Amino acid sequence: MPDILQKAIIDNQITVLALNSTSSVNKAIKLHDLSPVAAAALGRTLTVTALMASGFKNPTDYVTAVVKGNGPIGSITACADGKGNVKGCVDNNAVETTLREDGHLDVGGAVGKTGKITVIKNIGLKQPYIGTSNLITGEIAEDFANYFAVSEQQPCAVSLGVKLAKGKCVAAGGLLIQVLPQCGEELLSEVEKRAGMIKEISNSFYTTPDPRQVIDNIFGDLPDVVYALPSSVRYKCDCNISRIRRLVLSLGRQEAFDIVKEQGCIEVQCHFCGKKYRLEQQDVEQLFDKKSK
Ligand SMILES: [Zn+2]
Repeated sequence: MPDILQKAIIDNQITVLALNSTSSVNKAIKLHDLSPVAAAALGRTLTVTALMASGFKNPTDYVTAVVKGNGPIGSITACADGKGNVKGCVDNNAVETTLREDGHLDVGGAVGKTGKITVIKNIGLKQPYIGTSNLITGEIAEDFANYFAVSEQQPCAVSLGVKLAKGKCVAAGGLLIQVLPQCGEELLSEVEKRAGMIKEISNSFYTTPDPRQVIDNIFGDLPDVVYALPSSVRYKCDCNISRIRRLVLSLGRQEAFDIVKEQGCIEVQCHFCGKKYRLEQQDVEQLFDKKSK
């Protein structure tokens, strides 16, 4: 079952995006055998990346977000496209941290509080857009809110959450609230007040899985809330053999043949879905012969 993403516009002044990402997070847990805190960190990053991609105009538009802090999880990578596909991986899937004093998973402790977010967007322009910002807390939501403000000059409120029970994700989701330039002070402070009252967005999606209903519960009584048609999001890897061939070509002839000599073939495993690709010696020869012609 795909996840559902809902967009709403409040009085033509504020955009609210809500995504219930429970299925995608469960797929990530299964593929990567994630520890609870790794599931929370990657789940939040997958959710915000899918929310970022929801504004894309073309199906081939693509965003990659990399969170690299000084914590034991290492790098977190998430990618999403204009078709609603999202995927991700972490360096250390087994990372464990002690629980915080409030009993919650210590995502900031796993990610680290010092480091960077880098976002690369390929949206059909000659050059990709690359933005970067510093981490604030390592809790992901605050870090991305800061990224949007600093790097994209887009003031946003970001709420992200992953709720786990017995190794499974029972609810995950996120809200991205974007303030449009024409937004008036009065509506802004009201929306800020309500956004500030959301303590755990994963609980909202736990009790109310429908993202439209989640928006309605928080903002429904404000004037002129217009809902767009919902769209679907799913964890899906877009790896294929031609991508692997390009990767092998990028190694260069010398290194590629060194690997073949040592191992008899070149085996590549996709970081995002675990699929294994195997290029035999003759495949590698063909690949470089074709290139040199
Ligand atoms: Zn893959």
